[in-house]
Formats: sequence, C-alpha cells, structure tokens
Amino acid sequence: MDISIVVPSYNEDESLPHLAEWIDRVMKEHGFSYEVIIVDDGSKDGTWQAAEKLHAANPCYRGIKFRRNYGKSAALNTGFAAAQGDVVITMDADLQDSPDEVPELYRMIKEDGYDLVSGWKKKRYDSKLAKNIPSKFFNWTTRRMSGIHLHDFNCGLKAYRHDVVKSIEVYGEMHRFIPVIAKWAGFGKIGEKVVQHRKREFGVTKFGMSRFINGYLDLMSIMFMSKFGKQPMHFFGAVGTISGLFGLVSLIVVLILRMTGSISLTHSVWFYLSMLFLVLGVMLFLAGFIGELVCRNSTTRNQYLIEKEL
Ligand code: UDP
Ligand code: MG
Repeated sequence: MDISIVVPSYNEDESLPHLAEWIDRVMKEHGFSYEVIIVDDGSKDGTWQAAEKLHAANPCYRGIKFRRNYGKSAALNTGFAAAQGDVVITMDADLQDSPDEVPELYRMIKEDGYDLVSGWKKKRYDSKLAKNIPSKFFNWTTRRMSGIHLHDFNCGLKAYRHDVVKSIEVYGEMHRFIPVIAKWAGFGKIGEKVVQHRKREFGVTKFGMSRFINGYLDLMSIMFMSKFGKQPMHFFGAVGTISGLFGLVSLIVVLILRMTGSISLTHSVWFYLSMLFLVLGVMLFLAGFIGELVCRNSTTRNQYLIEKEL
C-alpha cells in the first residue's frame, strides 16, 4: 500500500464527509493505493457515525474509536500503530490542511529520501493574537533547543516514512514535537514543505491558550529525557557535586573565619548558605542514584531502535 492517511478527529462530523471526498479525488487522480484511518478521539457528536458511513461506502476507510477523549497525541499514536502504508500522512480533520499536498509529500519521502516532511503554514488563517504570534515564539525556541530547522513544528500535515511511525511513541501533548522525537530516534533527514492552510469551516478549535504552557513543559521534558533519560546520574550527579563542593568550600572558609574570631557563626549568612548547598548537593546526588535505580528496573531499558537486521 502506498499511503496511509491518519486523521485525528474530535467532534468533526461536519468536516469529515467533505474531507473524504477531497482525499478520494486526489488519490484517484494520482492512482495511489491508500487507506484512511479516522481516529475518533472520544467525540460527542456524530463523528463515529460519519466514519462508519465512509467505511460502508469504501473499505479503504478505517475507523478507531476511543472510549473517551485522550488527546491528539494518543489519536496519532494509535493511528501510527495501525498504519500499513509505505508513507504515512497525518492530517487534521477540520479541512484546514489540503489533501492536494499529499502527492508532493509522498514524492519527497519516496524520491528525495526524507524520513519526515513537515508542513509549513507560511500563510495562516487563524486568529493573529491567539495563534500566529505565540506560535512564532514557540517555534523559535523549539528550533533553538532541538537544532532542527523547521518553521512550523505544530503543523498537523506531516508525512513519514513507514519505519518512522513504527519506531516512535507519542503521548501526552508530544504531537507538537514529533520531529524532535524522530530525530532523537535516529531519523535525521527532516524536510519541510510550504503547504496551503485554510480557514476552519465547521466546528471550533480544540486547543486554547493552555497549549503554550503545556507545550513548553513538554519541550523541557523531551530535551531532558533525550539528554539524560538513560543516565540521570550524569545530570543530577554533576549538579549535586557542584553544589556540594561549593557548600563544603564555603563552610570551610566560614569555619576558619570563625576560629580566627572575625565572625560569629550564627550571624553569618554564609554559614546558612554553605549548609543549604551541602544539603542540596547530597539530595541531588541521591536523586541521581534513585533515577539510576529506576532506569535499571525499567522494562524499556534495553529497547533500542534497530534499523536493520540480517
Ligand atoms: N483533535 C483530537 N483530539 C483532541 C483535540 C483535537 O483528535 O483532543 C484533532 C481535531 O479534531 C483536529 C486536529 O486534532 O482534527 C487539530 O485540532 P484543531 O483544529 O482544534 O487545532 P488547531 O487547528 O486549532 O491548532
Ligand atoms: Mg484546525
């Protein structure tokens, strides 16, 4: 099969029939073999009925229904596990992403050898204040921290080589960082394509301002996990040692000053600071040890992603 299109859908019953019609038209024009996986993320409207109807009319349409709303990342992760196509495309259900982009995305993966191609909504049709400006800032920091030069990390329209979606795990709100996760898993050839973006025609956006706060927290945990996830001691041990040494040296200085009689211990702020840093150092060190113990007992400690086998 050439293409799997994964469509996370949360209350999108009005959009789905239009999207399906458009996808079918493009796929037929180019003669692709394809499947469309609609992941109903616990919708309360007729999204699942819409998916059933599409499946009845055309078995290329598959549906996965969540019992409740788990979020876009969970929907994508489940769609990835089910996808069978050589190239897997993710696309929002709300008609903001254009299926006309699919053939070129497919070509970039197949012929140009990209592992992942991310859409770039160069001209956006969303509200300026709530989305465009915060998202510029968000993309800039993610670019700086991850070293991946994409303009639009959060674009719903992306294409992946089959191996990529089978090797990565997306959870929480990590869908904004799939390129970072893919790079970390060893898929470094990441490209970008300017894509058409359109106004949402039906329904409402599912993400509020909280996306930015959560986005930053997720970015921090991703960067931390990728650097120190397997060796927590490298981080906690280093910071703990610095803090402990600083505390020790300053305590010695304070004690010498006390013995020469130039200060009183309990009146010296340095004494308390020394103690603070010493204790902090020991605690961080312990956190590192406990982290190592957790890692050692984790069932995924030896899950490495193997690219090829003979
Ligand atoms: N979505 C989802 N689960 C959620 C929230 C959103 O599956 O909990 C889907 C939604 O149906 C849409 C896509 O993710 O297909 C993008 O959502 P939305 O259009 O609301 O985001 P925006 O375009 O405003 O960033
Ligand atoms: Mg949208």
